[in-house]
Amino acid sequence: MSGTGHVSLVGAGPGDPALLTRRALSRLRAADLVLYDALVDARVLALARRAQRFFVGKRAGRHALSQQEIHAVMIRAARRGRRVVRLKGGDPFVLGRGGEEAQALQQAGVPFDVVPGVTSAIAAPASVGIPLTHRGLASAFFVVSGHDSETFAEAIGALRPNRVTIVILMGFRRRVSLATELLEAGWRRSTATAIVADGTLPHCQVWRGTLADLAGSAASFNPSGPALIVIGDVAALDLTTTLQTGHPDRTEATPDVRARRSK
Ligand code: SAH
Repeated sequence: MSGTGHVSLVGAGPGDPALLTRRALSRLRAADLVLYDALVDARVLALARRAQRFFVGKRAGRHALSQQEIHAVMIRAARRGRRVVRLKGGDPFVLGRGGEEAQALQQAGVPFDVVPGVTSAIAAPASVGIPLTHRGLASAFFVVSGHDSETFAEAIGALRPNRVTIVILMGFRRRVSLATELLEAGWRRSTATAIVADGTLPHCQVWRGTLADLAGSAASFNPSGPALIVIGDVAALDLTTTLQTGHPDRTEATPDVRARRSK
């Protein structure tokens, strides 16, 4: 078979497989080849039953494949007629280089589509009862990478302090310097701050304090999974009920996972 291949840039959601979209599920089921990143849950990956699966992400600080190599593999496979799923954590277009991949496919003339996912930026805070906007507290939110200080400083410079909720992805290791930069930019020391690790998963962990606590490294918190930082008055909210904290879905998982289990 050749000439009929296709690439789907698919959002795998924030962790909990029940938060996968129906379109993502159908793309995974139809896939011949899945190229996946580090934050993709094994249960989501398992839904691509008939596909060859390749890890192309970053592990222990090293990229399994370069971005250019990922583009080349996707393009080659699609030209050979394969149905390729490029599976990324959360949403493919939120700080995940999905845009670059779409550009490469467009330039190569390879048919592709983008399947949005539930981003961790919204879902992880929600899973511990933090809404990113809330009447009287914040009417906007700002999602930024904390990976390098130059980009962070530039992005933060565009904001008026204390007005919006900031969500920092990829910033846990640099949390002390990121908090210090915000204080220097005029953010209040008492601004509520939360760190959410493994959001939406049963072993989710949360730390809560103030921006000054974070800058003073009072956040002695060592999660093993992915973590994000929420800064702003909403971070003090804890809008959970026993329904959420008790995770009624925990034993149910998705209908598909259930179906596979019972076989
Ligand atoms: N495209 C992804 C984000 C990729 S950047 C999305 O839309 O979610 C990867 C960062 O996302 C991690 O460093 C961490 O900051 C955050 N992250 C991903 N999954 C998370 C989770 N379950 N809980 C908390 N943070 C998470």
